[in-house]
Amino acid sequence: MNFDIAIIGGGNAGLSLARNLFRDKTKKKIIVIEPELPDNKVANWCTWMHRDNLPIYKKSIKGSWEDWTVSDKTQTINHSSASYKYVCIDASIYLSQIENELHNSNIQILRDSVVEISEKNKRKEIICKNNMISSIHVYDSRPPEIKTDLLRQHFYGIEFEFMEKHQINSVILMDFDVTQSSGLHFIYALPLSERKLFVESTVISKEFNQKQWYEDQIELWMENKNLDYLKKLSYEEGVIAQDKINYKNEGIHFIGARGGAVRLSSGYTFHNIQSQAAKLADNIRNDGYDVPVVMSKFVSFMDRIFNKVLINEPQIAVDLFLNTTQSLSADEFAKFMLNKANFNIWSKVINQMPKKPFIRQVFKSITRG
Ligand SMILES: Cc1cc2nc3c(=O)[nH]c(=O)nc-3n(C[C@H](O)[C@H](O)[C@H](O)COP(=O)(O)OP(=O)(O)OC[C@H]3O[C@@H](n4cnc5c(N)ncnc54)[C@H](O)[C@@H]3O)c2cc1C
Repeated sequence: MNFDIAIIGGGNAGLSLARNLFRDKTKKKIIVIEPELPDNKVANWCTWMHRDNLPIYKKSIKGSWEDWTVSDKTQTINHSSASYKYVCIDASIYLSQIENELHNSNIQILRDSVVEISEKNKRKEIICKNNMISSIHVYDSRPPEIKTDLLRQHFYGIEFEFMEKHQINSVILMDFDVTQSSGLHFIYALPLSERKLFVESTVISKEFNQKQWYEDQIELWMENKNLDYLKKLSYEEGVIAQDKINYKNEGIHFIGARGGAVRLSSGYTFHNIQSQAAKLADNIRNDGYDVPVVMSKFVSFMDRIFNKVLINEPQIAVDLFLNTTQSLSADEFAKFMLNKANFNIWSKVINQMPKKPFIRQVFKSITRG
């Protein structure tokens, strides 16, 4: 089977790119190779979104909120924004909708798994479990392999149903009032409805915990908040690399989490994937095939320094998140998270940072690379 473009992986990045190309009315022959059905993808993809952009994602939005908090034992910082909402996208609905939209188009979806890619006569030969594909351009979005010595955020979340209304009304972005014995740990909670609450335990560290550990932390937090649930509805788990991963690309383009779309200091990736897909589709329309950079060198550098401070100065890690949140208004915070911070926002963030640890890590970064 011969194609102009093969997209490996029909997850967020792969299908978002395919949809942009479809809407651009591309004449190119395109294939998306994805082993799993979208119905099997259980994930809440959350991000800040300007309220004008909400209609674009309307059908897959599971919840949206204008209030969010960051807290520890001693304080709670409340943010409330009328312009930016914190939005939760249901991954399986989002992906199913795109697959339906692509039905009967010149973009084919192949349910198969890629095993190997090689080059032959300036074309890429993609060997799948059951098929062989030949394509001029390849965009690979298979999840990156995360080496053991890399900083990562690992999480496990449970969606709970309650008999009575629970009392959580705003998004809990980070509640650090939990054990910090296994790395930087916080609870994240989304009030999906009056009787549904999604609660996740997230750890930022180089080591994993057993699944039971996260479950215990969630149960403990629920107990402390007197949240007496009726039943557990579903689970979500994941790992996001918070270190830069370098691959040999050998003429293959990388997109999505594999293609540098992860915001290293927070793990938020959804908005970067959306902007990468839109810009790349624009490039392809003009016969340019390189993947555009979605984060400036400055943002990537600052995020790497921030992560180094987290690892090397863990005693100030919680304060770093609290101070950053405190220093910004809700709108500024949303812009900061969406890589849209201007000079004024960055200076507020930098002003809040303890100078010595940051200067130490900048110096180490420059001298050791
Ligand atoms: C559980 C979870 C929750 C997350 N929540 C958020 C969030 O709230 N906000 C946010 O901004 N980011 C979030 N992220 C990070 C990021 O947005 C997601 O990981 C996003 O799905 C990344 O998109 P992607 O296309 O790069 O990878 P994926 O969506 O993982 O897509 C990769 C695809 O490749 C396919 N694949 C794997 N192996 C093969 C193979 N051999 N051949 C062909 N295909 C293959 C997979 O089946 C998959 O569909 C989350 C990540 C996870 C894991």
